Amino acid sequence: MIKLTQIRKSFGRNEVLKGIDLTVEKGEVVAILGPSGSGKTTLLRCINYLEKPNEGRIVIDDFSVQCSRPDKKAIHTLRQKTAMVFQQYNLFKHKTALENVMEGLFVVKKISKDEARIRSIELLEKVGLGNKLDAYPSELSGGQQQRVGIARALALNPEVILFDEPTSALDPELVGEVLAVIRKIAKEGITMIIVTHEMGFAQDVASHVVFMDEGVIVEQGKPNELFTSPKEERTKQFLKRIT
Ligand code: ATP
Repeated sequence: MIKLTQIRKSFGRNEVLKGIDLTVEKGEVVAILGPSGSGKTTLLRCINYLEKPNEGRIVIDDFSVQCSRPDKKAIHTLRQKTAMVFQQYNLFKHKTALENVMEGLFVVKKISKDEARIRSIELLEKVGLGNKLDAYPSELSGGQQQRVGIARALALNPEVILFDEPTSALDPELVGEVLAVIRKIAKEGITMIIVTHEMGFAQDVASHVVFMDEGVIVEQGKPNELFTSPKEERTKQFLKRIT
């Protein structure tokens, strides 16, 4: 279980997160929606300390970080329990698809190279890239690069995968293949938090939807409730604009 309590984050005088409380149960797929600049990406980055929250508490299973007094060991553990899939893939350009996935396994998980290779091949096969093991990122389409990014996140065997707008850098015809892979792994019961602008996907795959605006969670609930009968005016306006 992941529990965020009163997470606050400011950049200078700009308070971007104004006290976020969110609980994500094991196996849940949570979609975070909201207008541009509402703080979605910042929230995601705070969960694994890519951004340091100013205040609040992050709990993942038995680990807890009090953000105003961070404990280095707990942050390290928190990072081991989370994996991020980035909008721009963030692959190592001079490494092949296989090496990109293996890297985390023997650097972070400290398993042998042979074991890392076997596990990485399995994962690349799972995301449909068994025939691209030796390709460099420049030889792969955006959709294929993002699928390598997903395999790399899975390799870490994290408690939660954090997806930061995983399809927004892709040409429209490549979005479907990446969403299909995310759908497939969601069915396996991996806990996921996904920042997305893909409403159809959120409605379809998420077990819980969170609507953020101006640094607060305005409304949250089951997708069919939030999409069909939103309670808050701000949610209604947002949904009207984008659907
Ligand atoms: P989008 O949907 O456009 O990606 P978002 O909801 O994910 O938006 P964030 O990227 O979290 O929003 O940004 C929220 C606010 O925080 C914005 O005003 C942004 O300019 C600001 N911000 C984000 N990162 C930084 C940073 N590193 N330094 C300063 N300001 C930042």
